[in-house]
Amino acid sequence: MARCSVPEADAILDKEFKVLDKGFVRLVDYLGGDSRIVQAARVSYGAGTKTVREDKGLINYLLRNEHTSPFEQVVFTFHIKLPIFIARQWIRHRTARLNEISGRYSILNDDFYVPETSDIAFQSSNNKQGRSTEEVPTELKQKVLDILTDGQKKSYQEYKALVDSGIARELARVNLPLSTYTEWYWQIDLKNLFHFLKLRMDSHAQKEIRDYAYVMFDIVKKVCPFAAEAFENHILGGCKLSEEEKKAVANILEGKEHNLNERALQILKEKVSN
Ligand SMILES: Cc1cc2nc3c(=O)[nH]c(=O)nc-3n(C[C@H](O)[C@H](O)[C@H](O)COP(=O)(O)OP(=O)(O)OC[C@H]3O[C@@H](n4cnc5c(N)ncnc54)[C@H](O)[C@@H]3O)c2cc1C
Repeated sequence: MARCSVPEADAILDKEFKVLDKGFVRLVDYLGGDSRIVQAARVSYGAGTKTVREDKGLINYLLRNEHTSPFEQVVFTFHIKLPIFIARQWIRHRTARLNEISGRYSILNDDFYVPETSDIAFQSSNNKQGRSTEEVPTELKQKVLDILTDGQKKSYQEYKALVDSGIARELARVNLPLSTYTEWYWQIDLKNLFHFLKLRMDSHAQKEIRDYAYVMFDIVKKVCPFAAEAFENHILGGCKLSEEEKKAVANILEGKEHNLNERALQILKEKVSN
């Protein structure tokens, strides 16, 4: 069978999708698509692609039952420009291959992340890793922007001065802030990309990495729409239930008492309503 090419994906190859103020995601290349997943799944008994409806059903079946290896046959290579504080979260995903711009080799650009005023928020009081919904006064927002941009400007001027005086780039850069943009090529298979997207599209993930994850999921939808739909249904929109929760749901479906205490019931409600 010929190389799997997907016209909707070919149409967006090399296109930069803007993320944050100066970042982007670009699909450099892809290998496979929905049809590769079904070919790989069916190879064991020699049958190729069947009808579109059957292919879609098979992909749905595979994901629902965690037969995930056929999804590893689809591979994405992205070029991503992102601030270093997001790169630090991203790099925790160990199942990808990457090449990053070298600040030892190249002179870094003065590209720094500055949040939108609408994204400037107070610390959440009930989520140590989150933001509050309480509105920040306009003057304070402006103060935040001034502090960020002044600091970025100053540290870049100092970096440039050190570079211009012949100091090694690998040393000159060490005071640059976490808001500095970096770039990398990031290659990952679909199974592991789904894992990344599940964690990073979640409301608990930082807003800035979520923005990247949403754009990447839109790209996945172009390359393998059936797999993306199955992911939305079974992984993104689904939830894991404990044995106790499963019993409670079974009891409720049979019109019996759920037998959960108040806290456990609250957790179950949150799980199924998110
Ligand atoms: C909202 C959020 C908050 C977080 N907060 C923190 C934090 O405060 N501090 C912190 O340090 N981290 C934090 N993390 C990072 C988190 O702990 C994980 O490191 C990160 O999400 C990557 O997940 P992973 O290991 O499942 O993914 P990947 O590295 O992409 O791995 C995918 C899967 O492959 C398997 N795998 C990969 N490598 C190995 C291995 N060596 N051994 C065994 N199995 C392997 C595992 O099944 C894993 O789930 C946070 C993540 C999220 C999403």
